[in-house]
Amino acid sequence: MSDGKKTRGPRGTVTINPELCKGCGFCIEFCPSGVLAFSDTFNDKGYHTPQAARPEACTGCDLCGAYCPDFAIFGSLKEKVVA
Ligand code: SF4
Ligand code: SF4
Repeated sequence: MSDGKKTRGPRGTVTINPELCKGCGFCIEFCPSGVLAFSDTFNDKGYHTPQAARPEACTGCDLCGAYCPDFAIFGSLKEKVVA
């Protein structure tokens, strides 16, 4: 239930589908909030995939989704922030 006050915490959330990822790093490079970094793991195709290293900084802007050539990542708004 919303009380109309400004909420704290992440404004956005990022969703990653590692199996679609080809490890190009565009999302990491272009995230304006420095949310993403390569993880230590590889997917089934052997590509090094990203992870949300700083999820609290995500704004849900979806620039990662705009730059990803493989539709492997997208950002979305987590909740409405009332000013
Ligand atoms: S832009 Fe897409 S394919 Fe490239 S590393 Fe990020 S999630 Fe993987
Ligand atoms: S939605 Fe925006 S802030 Fe969040 S990880 Fe993607 S590019 Fe970064």
